[in-house]
Amino acid sequence: MSDTWVIVGASRGIGLEFVRQLLHNGFHVIAGVRDLSKAEKLDEVKSQQTGPERCIIEQCDITDEQSIQGFADKVKEATRVSGLKVTNIVLNAGILHYPNRATEISFADFALHLHTNTIGPIICAQKLLNLNPDSPPSKVVFISSDSGSTTIFRDDEDGFGAYGASKAALNQMLRHMAAELTRRGGQWTRTSILAMHPGEVETDMANIDLGWEVHGSISAEESVRCMLQVISEKDETGSFWCWDGRRHPW
Ligand code: NDP
Repeated sequence: MSDTWVIVGASRGIGLEFVRQLLHNGFHVIAGVRDLSKAEKLDEVKSQQTGPERCIIEQCDITDEQSIQGFADKVKEATRVSGLKVTNIVLNAGILHYPNRATEISFADFALHLHTNTIGPIICAQKLLNLNPDSPPSKVVFISSDSGSTTIFRDDEDGFGAYGASKAALNQMLRHMAAELTRRGGQWTRTSILAMHPGEVETDMANIDLGWEVHGSISAEESVRCMLQVISEKDETGSFWCWDGRRHPW
């Protein structure tokens, strides 16, 4: 059976780069995108690789429970038909509507940050984890953020209230997921739940006028290349890592 990665939120930015590098490295990929009609960059990446049949693209809107269920069903069917085994799952989809200050944000926009950055990724991981209880994946990776760290609380980081809160909630929930799987025992103890800060990465999300200079930005290529190395090396479930392999404080 071939090792397969599931990447959720793969239409552009970091998620797209995960697909590109994984295909280049010879893996099978099942890529989830919010809107199949707006996945041109992903289609292009798929067609540029040798063995485009190693890439399956399916619809997955992380804010919609039915869409997540539909995606999980498609993943199950794809693995059944082609004998693939899902070994790694990356929950990458996320939003940042800047600014999202606690003193200003609307109910709806705060809810959207939570649906997209916290609830959707956790529910999607939960459904994918339960697809094949006899043989769960090795790694479930949540793309979190340094903005979600409650230890390094940056009170000078203006405009990141709801975004930071949504990533902090994601961090807390994924730690519970790790602890629950450990308590289940048996084969579940072979699944590592990891959180990753990808760095300050040059993507659409980071292309905002913050009013201050961001130092040390890296390309999506470098971020993903380094994260793939870290993901392959780290087995400690319920742990939080930077793209460059340093441990990140919760
Ligand atoms: P981009 O804005 O470039 O890409 C975001 C991706 O998430 C897109 O593929 C987008 O799809 C997808 N997405 C958003 N909402 C949904 C949804 N409802 N359902 C499915 N997919 C969705 O951001 P990045 O690539 O920079 O960010 C990727 C992850 O990295 C995010 O979780 C982000 O919080 C995190 N991160 C990024 C940092 C950076 O510096 N760039 C720093 C720290 C963390 P669509 O094209 O349909 O909108």
